[in-house]
Amino acid sequence: MDYLNLSVKELNRLFLKGELSPVELLKATMERIHMVERDVNAFITTCLESAEKAAEESEKRYMKKAPLSPLDGIPVGVKDNIVTKGIRTTCGSRILKDYIPPYNATVVEKLLAAGAVIVGKTNMDEFAMGSSTENSAFGPTKNPYSEAHVPGGSSGGSAAAVALREVICSLGSDTGGSIRQPAAFCGVVGMKPTYGRVSRFGLVAFASSLDQIGPITSNVEDCAILLNHIAGYDPMDSTSADIPVPDYTMVLGRPIEGIRIGVPQEYTQEGVDHRILEFFEEAKEALREVGAKIVQISLPHTRYSVAAYYIIATAEASSNLARYDGVKYGSRREGSDLLSTYELTRSTGFGKEVKRRIMLGSYVLSSGYYEAYYMKAMKVRTLIKMDFDSAFQYVDAILAPISPVPTFKIGERVKDPLSMYLIDIFTTPANLCGIPGISVPFGKIEGLPMGVQLLGRPFEEDTLLQVAYALQKGVKG
Ligand code: GLN
Repeated sequence: MDYLNLSVKELNRLFLKGELSPVELLKATMERIHMVERDVNAFITTCLESAEKAAEESEKRYMKKAPLSPLDGIPVGVKDNIVTKGIRTTCGSRILKDYIPPYNATVVEKLLAAGAVIVGKTNMDEFAMGSSTENSAFGPTKNPYSEAHVPGGSSGGSAAAVALREVICSLGSDTGGSIRQPAAFCGVVGMKPTYGRVSRFGLVAFASSLDQIGPITSNVEDCAILLNHIAGYDPMDSTSADIPVPDYTMVLGRPIEGIRIGVPQEYTQEGVDHRILEFFEEAKEALREVGAKIVQISLPHTRYSVAAYYIIATAEASSNLARYDGVKYGSRREGSDLLSTYELTRSTGFGKEVKRRIMLGSYVLSSGYYEAYYMKAMKVRTLIKMDFDSAFQYVDAILAPISPVPTFKIGERVKDPLSMYLIDIFTTPANLCGIPGISVPFGKIEGLPMGVQLLGRPFEEDTLLQVAYALQKGVKG
C-alpha cells in the first residue's frame, strides 16, 4: 500500500489500529525525499535525525493508545521563514544562511504539542518576496509536474513537497498570495486564514499588516485538521485574535444548499487566460449543481490592488528588513567602520528582488512621497475593503480565480518584475482586507495543475472549508 497517498485521518486510523507506525511512515517519506529532492529542490534544510526521534516518541504514544492529536506522527514541512529552535532558518536568503534561531514560532510549538514530525524547512522566495520561488538563494524549486516550470511562490517548496508527498502537509505564509498561488500551481489545497487567526510570533516579518501563516495540504479535510491545531490567540502576538477556534472538521460534508456564492464581474474581464476563465465557469457550475446560489457581485477597486499592495508591502518590508545589518542577525561582512560593515553586509547578503523592494519601500515612505504614495495606497486599501464588506452583505463566500495566467516557465518572468507583480491581482485583495481565502485544485492546463479560490468573511474559515469540501468532493446538497 502506498501510505504516502493517504489523508491525515486515514494515516491516523492506521496508526491507531497498529497497521502502520509513525517510524514506518517517516521512512517512506524519507525514501520519497531521497528519490525526488535532487530534482525538485523543495527543501532548504532537512532534519531527519530529529524527525526520527520525534517519530519514535510518537510511536510510543500510539503503543500506549495515547496519541496527542490526529497530527501525531504525521510528517510535516515548515516554510523556512518560520523559526525553528536549533534548526537553521534562512528565509531563502544568503544573509541568514547560517542563522539558527534560539526559539520556536508559536505555530511550531503547536505542531510539536500535537505530535507532528517536522521533517524540514521548505524552499521559498527570499524573505517571501516573489511568486515563483525563483528568488531563493538556494536555487529555484521546480514544479512537481514539470521541471521546466515554476511551482508558484513564495511558498513553492511547501506546496511542491506536499504535491510530491515528501511530507503529508506543510505550513506556508501568505502576504499577497504565497500560500494560495503555489498551492494552485502544484495541485494542492492552501489556505490563508483571517489576519489574526494564526499567531505570527516567530514568522519572520515581511509585511506585518499582511502576513499570515496557513496550511498547505493535499485535500480540504487535512487543511481543516491542520488549521484546528495552529489557530488561536497567542499573547506573544498582539495582532492575534482572541476568538474561540471551532473544530473546522465539523462543517465538512455539510450540504451547501442555499449558500450564496458571489462571482465578481470584474474578475473575468480582459487579461485573464481563456482556459482559466473556462475553469472558473466550470467551478461556478459545480457549486450551482451542489445547491449553492450564484450571485453576481462587483469589486471595482480590485484593479488597484497590485499597485496598493506593492506600495504597502514594500514600505513595511523596508522597515522590517532594517534589522539585518550584520550586528544582531545572520552573516556579517566586516568593513573598515560600522557604516561600511552595514553596507557590505546588506549589499552582499540580500538578493536583487529584496534590494529592489527595500529601495521602493524607502522611497514611498520618504518625506514628500509619503502622502503621494503610502497614504494614498492606504486609502485605496480601505476602498478595496469596503468593496468586500458590501459584497459580504449579499453573499457568504466569493469564488475567484487565483492567477490570471497558467503556470509559467522558470526564467520566463523573473527578469521582468512588473510582469511578476501583475499576476498577484487576484490574491492580494484578501491580504489587504485581512479576509480568509482557500485555494482548491481545479483543472489542468497542458498537464499542469490550476486552482480556484474562495474568499470569505473574517473568521469564517469554516464556511470556506465547507464550500471547498463540496467543490472538491462534488457533495450533493
Ligand atoms: N507575490 C507576492 C510578492 O511578491 C506575494 C508574496 C507573499 O505572499 N509572500 O510580494
